[in-house]
Amino acid sequence: MTILVVGSVALDTVETPFTRKEDILGGAASYFSTAASLYNQVNLVAVVGSDFPQEYLDFWRSRPVNLAGLQMQVGKTFRWTARYHLDMNSRDTLDTQLGVYAGFHAVISDENRQSPLLFLANIQPELQLEVLEQIPNARLTVLDTMELWIMTARAQLTEVIKRVDILLMSEEEVRQYTNQASIVTGVRQLLAMGLKYVIVKQGSYGALLFGADGTYFSAPSYPLEEVIDPTGAGDAFAGGFLGYLSTVQPAPDGRYAIDDIKCGVVHGNIIGSYVCEDFSIGRLRTLTMDDIAARYQALVDCSHFDLSWRNTMGMQFIAPR
Ligand code: AMP
Repeated sequence: MTILVVGSVALDTVETPFTRKEDILGGAASYFSTAASLYNQVNLVAVVGSDFPQEYLDFWRSRPVNLAGLQMQVGKTFRWTARYHLDMNSRDTLDTQLGVYAGFHAVISDENRQSPLLFLANIQPELQLEVLEQIPNARLTVLDTMELWIMTARAQLTEVIKRVDILLMSEEEVRQYTNQASIVTGVRQLLAMGLKYVIVKQGSYGALLFGADGTYFSAPSYPLEEVIDPTGAGDAFAGGFLGYLSTVQPAPDGRYAIDDIKCGVVHGNIIGSYVCEDFSIGRLRTLTMDDIAARYQALVDCSHFDLSWRNTMGMQFIAPR
């Protein structure tokens, strides 16, 4: 099952409290494609400028990333500059230059329209909407966004949210978009817009899954000792989530079992944790399924607890199911 992704491919300048890197490969669709291609073929739809380094294209060609939908235009590649605080869960965007994305229109080929899974990675909501209109029958549509679009393109973003199945947002973005202090209230507001699930990313604290059917699931985070660069963790999360779902069979009506959705969230957390171990897609280049399996086991171990407990009088309590 192939996955279609539309979103930014960028050159990032990233400053952490310890290091600064200039013009390294970034962009939501870059992280997503690299991550999801560990599981299945990814069809990448994006645009880069004439300054985009050939080596990244060569790398993607060495993986199951189909670049037929990647346009090259005369001009500058999208650029993003950010500075992280000492608590690397928070950062300031210093500069965003859309470059060749300004005025870019994605044309989805017939082959790409066949992808059952669609990820609308972070980019202008207008462009996300254009893509949705070309693929009205995708089996599962997942959306990600960012503060810039919540602030500058709220109306278009709202249109996109109303038309997708699953929304990924950081805790901060849920508050920004819904104006609610409580995440639970904010998520309820989002689900009322017609979403099937909302996944709230909590940086180094894991992720929460909320379903319109009442599902609530809290996926633990992997306790990383050293975070080198958290950029792209959200996009890599999406890559792990959809990558995993692309390997399982949905029910005949196209719905995914809730246990598969939960496993997808755990895969998202795992890939998100790995990406923080290096700048750019550095760690994703060498990541293997064995690495993923090891961290999966660690997360099962650290989040499992018994259904029953006992007091000093020997009385046993069993939590009702
Ligand atoms: P994340 O850390 O998961 O939020 O993703 C950061 C990546 O998103 C960086 O590599 C940026 O190049 C890219 N990015 C930053 N701002 C935007 C934006 N407004 N639209 C699309 N992509 C962006």
